Amino acid sequence: MDLDIDTVRVARSRADCALRPGETFLGGGTFLYSEPVPAEVTGLVDLTGMGWEPWSVDGSGLRVAGTCTLEELLAGPGALGGAPGAPGPYRGLGIVGECVSALTLSAKVARTATVGGNLALGLPAGSMAGLFAALSARAVVWTPDGGSREVAVSDLVTGAGVVDLAPGEVLREVRVPAAALGQRTAFRRASLTATGRTAAMVTGRAGDRSPRITVTAAVGAPLSLYARDHDMVDRWVDWIGSEGAWYEDTHGSRDWRAAMTRRLAHEVLDELGGAA
Ligand SMILES: Cc1cc2nc3c(=O)[nH]c(=O)nc-3n(C[C@H](O)[C@H](O)[C@H](O)COP(=O)(O)OP(=O)(O)OC[C@H]3O[C@@H](n4cnc5c(N)ncnc54)[C@H](O)[C@@H]3O)c2cc1C
Repeated sequence: MDLDIDTVRVARSRADCALRPGETFLGGGTFLYSEPVPAEVTGLVDLTGMGWEPWSVDGSGLRVAGTCTLEELLAGPGALGGAPGAPGPYRGLGIVGECVSALTLSAKVARTATVGGNLALGLPAGSMAGLFAALSARAVVWTPDGGSREVAVSDLVTGAGVVDLAPGEVLREVRVPAAALGQRTAFRRASLTATGRTAAMVTGRAGDRSPRITVTAAVGAPLSLYARDHDMVDRWVDWIGSEGAWYEDTHGSRDWRAAMTRRLAHEVLDELGGAA
């Protein structure tokens, strides 16, 4: 830990979420406490003091608070979804466990790391974007003027480590529409080693239209496609390359990520294309 800050405030009301100069939000702190804090950050505002219900489900769908920990996500919505592919009213959530496991977190880190922190970081290997994009979730963002706005989770991460959150905006919750909860979903991931960082991740959901396939980790920002058939998947993967959108770091080259994504996307389409 390399933490050189002056203040930590625990937010207990919306008014407490108004950042003062030099402050930034604290979720579980698993990233903030593991990296040198940027020089301009002198204070933290701990959102976990807001006491938000981690998750809830009703007729409109599922709500997951920004402060919901990955452990709570797994034990709650993850358990509702049951085993991947198992039928049931929450079968869409069957990929929650795989998406949480796609993060290279120990149980200790998963106990405090939050959904909001993972989305707000916008790392390519941040699997919450792929999970909630597959479920057509929308993020509810509190704006500093006291209002709020909504953005599709698939549009929230706009590049590697770049998110559509202005300074002072709080990721309050993500909302999964009820219709998506009962639909079949599928998950695939690739990594250079069995326990390595996720380098290509493909999630998908069979909806009323063609299956919707989303790629993350192999690209800086999530990309989605309504895939009618395998030709369309191939053209899409080629197009991603022509746009120069493959991500590259020590966890995988562009070419390898493109090849893995192609294979995983075909597998997801095969799985979702089958009978319900
Ligand atoms: C061993 C280890 C392995 C890791 N592996 C991965 C991995 O595979 N993939 C990956 O993506 N990450 C990984 N991480 C990074 C990090 O732990 C996770 O991304 C985690 O989900 C971040 O959540 P947090 O609540 O701890 O965020 P914090 O550290 O609290 O915050 C991270 C950022 O998000 C902002 N933030 C937090 N909550 C909100 C909110 N509600 N609204 C607005 N802004 C907010 C903070 O200001 C900060 O900029 C790893 C970390 C460790 C220590």
